[in-house]
This record gives sequence, structure tokens and C-alpha cells, in this order.
Amino acid sequence: MASNKVTLVCTECLSRNYSTPKNKQTHTERLEMKKFCRRCGKHTLHKETK
Ligand SMILES: [Zn+2]
Repeated sequence: MASNKVTLVCTECLSRNYSTPKNKQTHTERLEMKKFCRRCGKHTLHKETK
């Protein structure tokens, strides 16, 4: 299988809030999505990290 797990970090407080499966062959760009951050107490932009 070519899918890996990636970690999503809050771009405001840098908390590692989520991990999600990602197929690197079909998604070559970095993931960015709005997710709820418990530390910030609101929805913030989360980005993929290693
Ligand atoms: Zn945050």
C-alpha cells in the first residue's frame, strides 16, 4: 500500500492535533485544511508536517 499517515499541525500554535492517511501518489501537494484546535479553542488552518 502506498498510503502513509501524515500529521496535521495548527499553524497558529503548532499543536499536532490530527493525523490522517494520505496517498502520496495521488496527493503530491501539501495538505491544508481547516480543523478545530483545542488549544486555540477555534477552527484554524492546519498543515501537513512530517
Ligand atoms: Zn492551535
